[in-house]
Amino acid sequence: MHEMGIALQIIDIVKASLPEDAKGAPIERINLKIGKLSAVVADSLRFCFEIAVKDTALDGAVLHIEKIPVTARCNDCRHQWTLANPVFSCPACDGGAIDVLSGRELAVDSIEIKDESNSDDG
Ligand SMILES: [Zn+2]
Repeated sequence: MHEMGIALQIIDIVKASLPEDAKGAPIERINLKIGKLSAVVADSLRFCFEIAVKDTALDGAVLHIEKIPVTARCNDCRHQWTLANPVFSCPACDGGAIDVLSGRELAVDSIEIKDESNSDDG
């Protein structure tokens, strides 16, 4: 399953981006940005993530997924637009030489660590 690989990748990124003093701290929420072209099914990804983080510091963390629209630019007239449909020709000049600028990304945008300000006397 494609999403399981991505879930494991996200866990690696989260672990690698935590500062030294936050290692092992419980994670509340992980904000992801996923391009609409990356073909990730959000529900599957959440499901795989929940399995993969079981009994780790990330157990219980919520995946918040923001979908990034697909944007493209025409190499002929430099027109830039957001694709609603997979139409890969320029709406301004009808040229076919376009670059896809965004829509394929899969990035961890931010990580929220649980607030553990409650002091423990015991
Ligand atoms: Zn054009």
